[in-house]
Amino acid sequence: MLAGQLDEGQRLHAEHLNPQLSKMLHAIGFDRVFRRGEGAHLWDAAGERYLDFLSGFGVHAVGRNHPVVRQALHQILDAELADLVQFDAPALPGVLAEQLLARAPGMDRVYFCNSGTEAVEAALKFARCATGKPRVLFCDHAYHGLTLGSLSVNGAPEFREGFAPLLPDTQIPFGDLDALDRELRRGDVAAFLVEPIQGKGVNIPPAGFLTAAQALVREHGALLIADEVQTGLGRTGRWFAYQHENVQPDIVTVAKALSGGFVPVGATMARAGIFERVYSSLDRVFVHASTFAGNALAMAAGLATISVIEDEGLIANANARGGELVDGLRALAASHPSIADVRGRGLMIGIEFGTPRTVRGKAMWTTLNAARPGLFAQMVVVPLFTQHRVLTQVAGDHMAVIKLLPPLTITSEDAREFLAAFASVMQTAERPGGLALDFGKTLIKQALHR
Ligand code: PMP
Repeated sequence: MLAGQLDEGQRLHAEHLNPQLSKMLHAIGFDRVFRRGEGAHLWDAAGERYLDFLSGFGVHAVGRNHPVVRQALHQILDAELADLVQFDAPALPGVLAEQLLARAPGMDRVYFCNSGTEAVEAALKFARCATGKPRVLFCDHAYHGLTLGSLSVNGAPEFREGFAPLLPDTQIPFGDLDALDRELRRGDVAAFLVEPIQGKGVNIPPAGFLTAAQALVREHGALLIADEVQTGLGRTGRWFAYQHENVQPDIVTVAKALSGGFVPVGATMARAGIFERVYSSLDRVFVHASTFAGNALAMAAGLATISVIEDEGLIANANARGGELVDGLRALAASHPSIADVRGRGLMIGIEFGTPRTVRGKAMWTTLNAARPGLFAQMVVVPLFTQHRVLTQVAGDHMAVIKLLPPLTITSEDAREFLAAFASVMQTAERPGGLALDFGKTLIKQALHR
C-alpha cells in the first residue's frame, strides 16, 4: 500500500486529511520529506541533517529512536504476550505505576490512558467525583488538550471558537492568587488545574504561587491538579515541575515523554483517597476506563523511557544544557534589542520578542504585528529551519515567543549549534532588507489570506 508513495505525504494530506496542513507547511517553507531520526537529529530525503529543538512537542524527550526503547518494544513483540485480556491484572502496568509513583512525591495510585488530553479528562472527572463539586478553575493561556472536557479548560479563545457550549469552568489570570481566592469562595469548585510552567508562552508563575495556591485550594476543600503532560519526566530539570516548589498536588497528569517517542500513553496519578471515591465499590470497577489503557507496548515504552532518563542522567543534562542555552541567549539579548526576555527551566525555554527601541525596529514590529500578532517570532522560526536546519516552534497562536523543547539528550555542541544559528537569524532579522522583508512579506500574504 505504501509502495511508490513514500514522497507523497503532502499530496495525500491535501486530498484526504486536514486540508490546511499542507497549505500551512508550504506557505512557511516546511514542506520537507523526513526520512530518518536519531537522538536530536532528523534527516530529510536529500540527506540534509536537522537539529530537532521541538522533539515532537515533547514526546522525544529521550531522543528519537533510542536503542533502549526500541529494544524493549522488540522484546514485547517477540514475547507474544497475552496483552489486553481485559479480565486480568498484568504485571507491566503495575511495574510502570510503581516506577512512576516512586518519582512523584505525594502520589499513591495511577490511572493509565492513551494521551495527554485523556489524562486531563480523567483528572477532571476524578476531581468532580472526589469533591462532589462541579466547577474547575484554569488559567489564561492554559493548554490541557482539545477533547471537550480539556477544551473547557483551555485558556485560548481561538481553540474554543465553534465548539460551544463547553463545561461551566472558569478562567483566572495565571499567577493571580486573589482571583483564585475569589472563585474558591463561591464554594462550588472541584479543582484548580494548572501547568507548573505553561506550554503556551513558556510562562513561569511567580515564586511561591503554587504553594500558596495549594494552601488556598485546601482551605476551600478543592483539589490541586498539576498538568505535567509537557513538564513531566525530567523536562524542567526535576522529575516533575511541581517539585521546584515542593508542593504536593492532589492529581498529576503525565503523557508525551512517557511514550519514549513511540507508543501513545498517558497517566493520571492521584492521592489514594481520590481513587477510593471514584472506584468506591465493586460495581464501579470500570467507572472510568479505556480499552487500550495499560497495553504492553505502551507500558514497556514507559518503563524503558524512565530507565533511560535515569541511566543517562538526563535530568542533570536538562539542567546543564538548559543553563548553557539560557546563558547564551541572555548574552545575545544584550546586543539584540528585539529580544525582550529569555526564560525557562531545564530544557523548556522561551525567547520572547518585544518592540525594539530603534525607530526602524519599531516600525517593522508595528507592521508585522498589525498583519498578525506573533509574526516576528514566526519570521525567526522560518529561517532557523529553512536556512539553518534547526526545528523550533512559535510558543502559541499570536505569541511573540519561540519555544525550545529539545530532547533531554542534547549535548553542549548541539546547544552551541543552536545559539550560532539563532544569532545569525537575529542579525539578519534586525537588518533593513533582511528577513523582515523576505519572510515578513510571504507570511503577511499568508496571514491576510487566512
Ligand atoms: N496538557 C499539556 C500541558 C500539554 O502540553 C498537552 C499537549 N501539548 C496536553 C495536555 C494534551 O496532550 P495530547 O496532545 O497528548 O492530548
